[in-house]
Amino acid sequence: MKNIIIAIDGPAGSGKTSSAKIVAEKLNYVYIDTGAMYRAFALAWLRSGMEFNTNSFKSIMENSKIELGQNESGQKTYLNEEDVSELIRTPEVTKYASSISADKFVRYSMVDKQRVLGQKGGVVMDGRDIGTDVFPQAELKIFLIASIEARAKRRLAELVAKNIEVSLEEVMDQISERDYNDSNRDVNPLRQAEDAIKLDTSDLTIQEQTDLIYNLATKIINSSYD
Ligand code: C5P
Repeated sequence: MKNIIIAIDGPAGSGKTSSAKIVAEKLNYVYIDTGAMYRAFALAWLRSGMEFNTNSFKSIMENSKIELGQNESGQKTYLNEEDVSELIRTPEVTKYASSISADKFVRYSMVDKQRVLGQKGGVVMDGRDIGTDVFPQAELKIFLIASIEARAKRRLAELVAKNIEVSLEEVMDQISERDYNDSNRDVNPLRQAEDAIKLDTSDLTIQEQTDLIYNLATKIINSSYD
């Protein structure tokens, strides 16, 4: 079976993670959550107490090992071998992941790591710049969008499930701020690759959006036998 690269990009709450995970599982591919890598790095910085600048980031990058893995309870993110999968989902880490990811050094280091992780194919990678910068040669590129209301409601449900108290308005503000930062940074901003397929997930269930992506992927995988 041909091992292709599937790049799924889009703004926060557009459904990237949920669909990428399921599509990877169905195809028996590896799922790579690049957002988790930036989040783990932001957590390392927050714990370091260091200044917010590139010199600090260089030192933290040298001394931290960020890994993605899987165990019986699902996808995991490790920072220096500690399972930080839950800790990286707090509003504070979310906020700093977005600002730290705009740093050129951090970005290029992460992109290098992501290229190594995906180079053999057989991966579904989600993020902001996968189809445009990490793997511009990806065989399938999906750009997910959804209304701000739909995205905020999804994020709110996730936070409520984790007992994090926050209002819908606050979540909308946080998402809008992240959208703005992610789309307006100088290095690898969030944008749709020219050859990406755009899907609006506002009114789609996870099952529907997953089926659409899975069907597109299998078509490409099967056509590569021709
Ligand atoms: O996808 P997720 O919301 O977990 O990503 C957290 C933050 O990491 C995003 O707001 C974005 O700023 C940054 N990110 C990025 N490029 C990626 C993945 C995430 O800049 N490929």
